[in-house]
Amino acid sequence: QPTVAIVGRPNVGKSTLFNRLVGRRLALVDDLPGVTRDRREGEARLADLRFAIVDTAGLEEADSGSLLGRMRAQTEAAIEDADAVLFVIDARTGLLPTDVPFAELVRKSGKPVILLANKAESRTGIANVYDAYELGLGEPIAFSGEHGTGLDELYDQLRELLPDAVEDDEAERGDDDPVRIAILGRPNAGKSTLINQLIGSERLLTGPEAGITRDAITIDWTWRGRHAKLIDTAGLRKRARIDDKLEKLATSDGIRAMRFADVVVVLLDATIPFEKQDLTIVDLIEREGRAVVIGLNKWDLVADQQGLLKDLREKATRLLPQVKGAPVVPLSGLAGEGLDRLMQAVFKAHETWNTRISTAKLNQWLGEAVEANPPPAVSGRRIKIRYMTQIKARPPHFAFFGNQLHALPKSYTRYLVNGLREAFNLPGTPIRVSLRTGK
Ligand code: GDP
Repeated sequence: QPTVAIVGRPNVGKSTLFNRLVGRRLALVDDLPGVTRDRREGEARLADLRFAIVDTAGLEEADSGSLLGRMRAQTEAAIEDADAVLFVIDARTGLLPTDVPFAELVRKSGKPVILLANKAESRTGIANVYDAYELGLGEPIAFSGEHGTGLDELYDQLRELLPDAVEDDEAERGDDDPVRIAILGRPNAGKSTLINQLIGSERLLTGPEAGITRDAITIDWTWRGRHAKLIDTAGLRKRARIDDKLEKLATSDGIRAMRFADVVVVLLDATIPFEKQDLTIVDLIEREGRAVVIGLNKWDLVADQQGLLKDLREKATRLLPQVKGAPVVPLSGLAGEGLDRLMQAVFKAHETWNTRISTAKLNQWLGEAVEANPPPAVSGRRIKIRYMTQIKARPPHFAFFGNQLHALPKSYTRYLVNGLREAFNLPGTPIRVSLRTGK
């Protein structure tokens, strides 16, 4: 498990940050009276990230003339053991001379560092955030440990630095876990209306519960007896409306909602044709490896329903090859029509996304596929695919083993992926492929 150290001079807010990341699971605090708490360690969670976190804040309480000296030694040790460092400054006071030696330690260590300008909730705080550039530790995140501002950016950076911290879904989640659904789409596509209809028609199991980032709210509910979690992006919607920035919705916030989801419903306004932004959203979903269902909302306003449906199904296949066969479901959130079909498609997509295929079946299929259309020779050498197996689900991920596989043309990989989709009935989910030479 990766380890992260929280570093900074006294009083910048390290403890608040520590508590926020560790929450109630605080594990290793030494609470014995009379013991100096030099170092606190805990298991941190941030969305799907898990990592050990070390904080040197305990020393701030120590009454010692050589406080800074002792802290420095402690900090050095903590940095040494860490895979990444969260360097905290206080944006309310701005940079102080005592920040500098701590920053020096971090820089000297060469460890990856994330710079947090804490207490940035106030106006002075925000003004001081950019002071932090002077430390030469990169771009600061405007942060508030108390309010939770900036946690989303912290998440993005941590995920980048510590890929091993991403929780292994399969270890923690069983087959009858609730389906986690996110509804994405352009402003005014009808997302809120649809969410209200969906949860309004069945009893709410628990009230909305604040997620890890303030923006993502999870609503637990059942649909015809099946347990689901709806990721409401209420915060996103409001912000998107204020500055009317579609990019924003389609990139950072959308990605975040997606990371919580298993299945993403892309909601289109059927009265407005497919737009580039819709394609961008689907691209992102594919990259994040989520299953896709396309909802055609405001169907009640469409005159030529047959014609439009045919047209859109054709377009979806042509424009969205990455999730070929994604179901396209017409519906009216306002009238509450088509919701059963939508939810059936969602549950089905979830199953597909979860599919596991036996190695025996895969290799039987592979034999036939290769015989029907053998891989080409590249610079006179034959490419040989010997064997395949599924290495992961959610989404399905297959590994092929053989000789010269690095030279396999993209078109041949596509041939294999399309074949797998058809043979094993895998519409609407991304399919991952790894090619491994040797063995
Ligand atoms: P959001 O921005 O995606 O959350 O969109 P809203 O749910 O706020 O809906 C935007 C507008 O579209 C509102 O005026 C809704 O009443 C309207 N609307 C939503 N769903 C439907 C629908 O199925 N049919 C019709 N005719 N109007 C709808």
